Amino acid sequence: MAATSTSADDERDEPESALETARRQLQHAFDHLDIDQNIVERLKHPKKVHEVTVPIERENGDVEVYTGYRAQHDSVRGPFKGGIRYHPDVTREECVGLGMLMTWKCAVMDLPFGGAKGGIAVNPKDLSTEEKEQLTRRFTDEIRSVIGPTKDIPAPDMGTDPQTMAWLMDAYSMQEGETIPGVVTGKPPIVGGSKGRDSAPGRSVAIITREAIEYYDKHSHETSVAVQGFGSVGSNAAKLLDDWGMNVVAVSDVNGGIYDATGLDTHSIPAHHEEPEAVMTHGAPETVTNDELLELNVDVVIPAAIGNVLTVDNADDIAADIVIEGANGPTTSAASAIFAEREIPVIPDILANAGGVTVSYFEWLQDINRRAWSLDRVHDELEAEMLAAWRDVRKEFDVRDGTWRDAAYIVALSRIAKAHEMRGLWP
Ligand code: GLU
Repeated sequence: MAATSTSADDERDEPESALETARRQLQHAFDHLDIDQNIVERLKHPKKVHEVTVPIERENGDVEVYTGYRAQHDSVRGPFKGGIRYHPDVTREECVGLGMLMTWKCAVMDLPFGGAKGGIAVNPKDLSTEEKEQLTRRFTDEIRSVIGPTKDIPAPDMGTDPQTMAWLMDAYSMQEGETIPGVVTGKPPIVGGSKGRDSAPGRSVAIITREAIEYYDKHSHETSVAVQGFGSVGSNAAKLLDDWGMNVVAVSDVNGGIYDATGLDTHSIPAHHEEPEAVMTHGAPETVTNDELLELNVDVVIPAAIGNVLTVDNADDIAADIVIEGANGPTTSAASAIFAEREIPVIPDILANAGGVTVSYFEWLQDINRRAWSLDRVHDELEAEMLAAWRDVRKEFDVRDGTWRDAAYIVALSRIAKAHEMRGLWP
């Protein structure tokens, strides 16, 4: 193979940006694959990054100016696809790195989409509902010419929700002069959203956890689970795993975590977005910090909150037998290397939480066909897609001497590289 591998020393440079993580993971997977280095070089860079200024008038009359981005990474397999986040740490680099992850995620799932990510550097908690609506409408207008149902289809991500997507759809549609629900996914069902979209990332995390524990010969009734993050991904995953007989012993949100060795009644704890103080006021026998939760001696730990929480500082102290990535990019490259050395399997984000974009795909199909699916159909088709992707990744994992992340990247990159080869480079 032509590539030089990234040295462990390089990988130990932390902290690491989402883009560095994405590029290192790409290079690492490439080292296992017989594909053209030129294609990998191309994939290390986004196709386009749009940076826009988003001014809004605050309720006190002041004008506040925010910066928004839409990073479009690759569209060889179909329109760009990926979320829009509202978070103070949003940067151009982060959008590019997370956009790359979307390209791999869509390819692992074999969806006819490429990858993108966008966002605005803002703390949405500082804004009123009306200000958030203004911000979303203005941002949509600024990126209007580069999005669309066959070009680039945004979706929710950190700090955005179905309401945000409804405003986006409305702002776009008003300018186009017709209702175009397929411009965005993750909308409320009443305006063309799919049933089951909200809970889909958590559901896929649960499905992949179930498959992973079976692969490692564990029984659900003897499996303890700790979940970091009780937002949409973490709460839905925890509740399903609980329903399937696993013992969810710890959950947390930004305020901290709770622990009960006999198992928590996850259904009695509202998710963070439903009731922000619910986790810590639940009345569990013990509390833990978010850092302690990750180091609990459990069978499965699921980081499902923010990125870069598994690092060189704690990778040696993780006591779980299996890590399932519910959040995007929770593990730095250096931590991944330590887990590989310690033979702790890490099932990657691009597989585990891909239920979100998969049901986004179902939503897009429903919008184009103007025909809604039942919740049962969404669940059945999601289950089928997740199992197909799990089998594809498992097949690579079984025949190679690498990690689960390598296996998932190999599945994704092979598909993307073949598509690039068939289409050729525009001269
Ligand atoms: N933001 C979600 C993700 O990171 C969903 C993207 C989508 O549905 O397009 O996977």
